[in-house]
Amino acid sequence: MLPRLAYVNGRYVPYRNAMVHCEDRGYQFADAVYEVLGLYRGYPVDLEGHWARLFRSLRAIGIEAPFSAATLSFIAREVVRRNRISTGTLYIQVSRGVAPRNHPFPDPDTPPGIVIVARPGLGPTADVAARGVSLLTQPDLRWKRCDIKSTGLLANVLAKQAAREQGAYEALLVDSEGMVTECSSSNVWIVDEAGAFITRPLGDAILPGVTRQVLAGLIRENGQTVVERPFSLTEALAAREVFVSSTGSFALPVVSIDGRPVGDGKPGPMVADLRARYVRRLESLDGDRWGV
Ligand code: PLP
Repeated sequence: MLPRLAYVNGRYVPYRNAMVHCEDRGYQFADAVYEVLGLYRGYPVDLEGHWARLFRSLRAIGIEAPFSAATLSFIAREVVRRNRISTGTLYIQVSRGVAPRNHPFPDPDTPPGIVIVARPGLGPTADVAARGVSLLTQPDLRWKRCDIKSTGLLANVLAKQAAREQGAYEALLVDSEGMVTECSSSNVWIVDEAGAFITRPLGDAILPGVTRQVLAGLIRENGQTVVERPFSLTEALAAREVFVSSTGSFALPVVSIDGRPVGDGKPGPMVADLRARYVRRLESLDGDRWGV
């Protein structure tokens, strides 16, 4: 289903007219950052975490934040309201604006380009989660600042497409040392024999996932162990359980990697339990309701 309208550079416009200039630097140079925010039954999910990461990404590439978090929330809420969305996603992109094509930053007065699009639907359906998903390994060909949520996603796009062409749900990115970084649009976790949840530490090789952070809290609250350390593909193949995490996929069990089964080839109990606790947390969201 198409959105009814989008916010583009100060205006709420019908979706079919939601255009940016051909010299927007996001378009020419991927000189832009973005966020994807979940909406669950009308409530924005982990808003502070997403706004904090957006401001961090903007700072990292030297774009002055065009709005405060409060103004951004006001506009985003308006996009949700006008699209009458309940459960869905909000895409927010901020570029360095429009200027004649030239690599150096344009005049500092150039206003950033801002686009917000909301659409219904959040993540794979419950039966996908019940069945589990497969991963295909791909070399991690991305740049060295994967902690910035940049729109320069060509390496991610190619990896995900390669996965989809082989019937896999996601691409598992592996660096030149055989260590797992993350997936093309999600973080990745393994559960070891002792039942510890292992995920790569934050750094410039992965995106600091908001869901990753929330899951780490839920795991610890449950008296279980989170270990943030690099792990290899060999370790992932031998893990008891594997799962990916993101705004849209929550915690999603992985049942095979490159056609080899993870554990007994069925979603494991640890991730099933974690996912259930994450969904309960979504169901208990309250406070400021944005959508219908
Ligand atoms: N890693 C990458 C490369 C991503 O693109 C994403 C989200 O789209 C994530 C991880 C997960 O981040 P979050 O949990 O904030 O959605």
